[in-house]
Amino acid sequence: MRSLVLGRPFGVAIELHWSFILLVLFILFSALAEGIESMLSTAMLFFFLFMSVILHELTHSIVSINRGISVQRIVLLPIGGVAVAEEIPENPRDEFLISVSGPIFNFSVVIAVILIVTFLPSFFPWHLLSSKTTAADIDRAFLYYPFFTLLYVNLMLGSFNLFLPALPMDGGRVLRSLLSMKMGTVKATRIVTTISAVIAIILFMVSFALQSIILMVIAVFIFFGSREEARFIEAKSSLAKINLKSLINKKPLIIESTQPIGSAIRHMLSKKKFACLVDFGSGKYGVLDLENLPEKINFLEPVSSYAFFPEPISIDMPPNKIFEKFMTKGYALVPIFDSGVLVGVISQSAIEQAYREMRIKERISSLIESKSN
Ligand SMILES: [Zn+2]
Repeated sequence: MRSLVLGRPFGVAIELHWSFILLVLFILFSALAEGIESMLSTAMLFFFLFMSVILHELTHSIVSINRGISVQRIVLLPIGGVAVAEEIPENPRDEFLISVSGPIFNFSVVIAVILIVTFLPSFFPWHLLSSKTTAADIDRAFLYYPFFTLLYVNLMLGSFNLFLPALPMDGGRVLRSLLSMKMGTVKATRIVTTISAVIAIILFMVSFALQSIILMVIAVFIFFGSREEARFIEAKSSLAKINLKSLINKKPLIIESTQPIGSAIRHMLSKKKFACLVDFGSGKYGVLDLENLPEKINFLEPVSSYAFFPEPISIDMPPNKIFEKFMTKGYALVPIFDSGVLVGVISQSAIEQAYREMRIKERISSLIESKSN
């Protein structure tokens, strides 16, 4: 299902994932059972959480763009946001700065709020907070004292993200970047992935004890998210060894941009091709990807209306960089150029095949080694 795009500050699209809306509605409805004040206070809490998550992710994005890594979009999930960058920072120093910036934003808000309410104590619900504070008092504090809500939300966001050394949370990235400086990214990622699994299991058990759905979701997110990250890093480092030139299909299927899409699709399917190059003339090429066609198409329209233009990829680019582009942008096929002249295409399936081959060869050679020992 698609996400809802809220805006594009600094060229970064802010998208709301459907599960976010669902969870908010669910929690608001369950809060309504406790009374209208409880529901309104929950709504207030969500509003500040939402704004703080967006600003937290925007801070990551601005630092990232500043370090030369462009960010396409920010996706807001129930448990926070994810800034989707085009690549994982190669330099551990960059990763450190990017990951630490989000929580620093939250802690700056915390400090600012503390300063403000020190001078303006009537803006803080001091009278509602004591050892005898009830859930209803907290609800009232969230509802009528925005500074309290802001403080609470940012303290939680900052601490959870920074002090939990688990991938894909910021704390895990900070730890990985620090370890990477000593032992390289692959080994550092392996260590942090193991730590992440342990943390996920502990969090999962704690979530049962506290009966907290949010904590349970975070545990699952960490468990699968860290494994995904580890797989990505390992694949990227293996692919750096692949000979890119061997993956190029030098005789790709090319269709004219003026051809009607209907006949182009028929032609492609007869050749068992699901993506192909589109020739726009004067050395300009696009890609038609049958897997990513819009829901409604007019079969008589020219192919040009349905083609997209992947970033031009030069033959001298390192294979792991190209692989990253495939992964983050979901390209099925990219044209490869040598000093501006088309030399062929590389498809996602060719990369996958090469990767599988490499993994199998590595596995077999380790089997042979262990046999001879
Ligand atoms: Zn973050």
